Amino acid sequence: MARYRGSVCRICRRENMKLFLKGDRCYSDKCAFDRRGYPPGQHGQRRRGKVSDYGIQLREKQKVKRMYGLVENQFRLFFERAEMQKGITGANLLVSLERRLDNVAYRLGFVNSRNQGRHFVRHGHFTINGRKANIPSQLVNINDVIEVKEKSRNIQAIQDALEAVVRRGVPPWLELDKDNFKGVVSSFPAREDLTMPMQENLIVELYSK
Ligand code: SF4
Repeated sequence: MARYRGSVCRICRRENMKLFLKGDRCYSDKCAFDRRGYPPGQHGQRRRGKVSDYGIQLREKQKVKRMYGLVENQFRLFFERAEMQKGITGANLLVSLERRLDNVAYRLGFVNSRNQGRHFVRHGHFTINGRKANIPSQLVNINDVIEVKEKSRNIQAIQDALEAVVRRGVPPWLELDKDNFKGVVSSFPAREDLTMPMQENLIVELYSK
């Protein structure tokens, strides 16, 4: 599946906020956004002009899409599914994105970023309820048990990520059993569990045009 292969720090600089796409580096003084908090490119340091409503909506969509590491058609598919569900479309969209296995692996601290999560899921390092799970977009359900496979537990990147998760914390809808490399989905995420600033109503407005 296609994905963005450029510098992820450029994305933070373009979206004008830290999106935490690079694991531990994001918390260090090497963070590119902390060092150069202006848009990338030759004209990045110029004053930004007035942005249209469309421009604001587009940036919000791009930010959320890139935060979860999706390309346009994958993101659009999530949106269309969210529209078909009961409830508020914007909140449905964010909750579905959070339930992706690559995101859950990141949230539980089995990996240091969603990008790494996608990579490790594809390489079959995790199971859901004891069964092989190698599709990053698979959505977890309540009471699902996500585990690092026995033979993958001594991978240094996984061990490092489990140490680093202490810094960002595990969200309340997940329970981590760090010693046993295991996590349980105790509930679906609520909108208020998503603490990164996101204005999903702007995405709904954009796609409703
Ligand atoms: Fe963004 Fe992390 Fe790069 Fe900083 S280090 S710019 S937060 S991806």
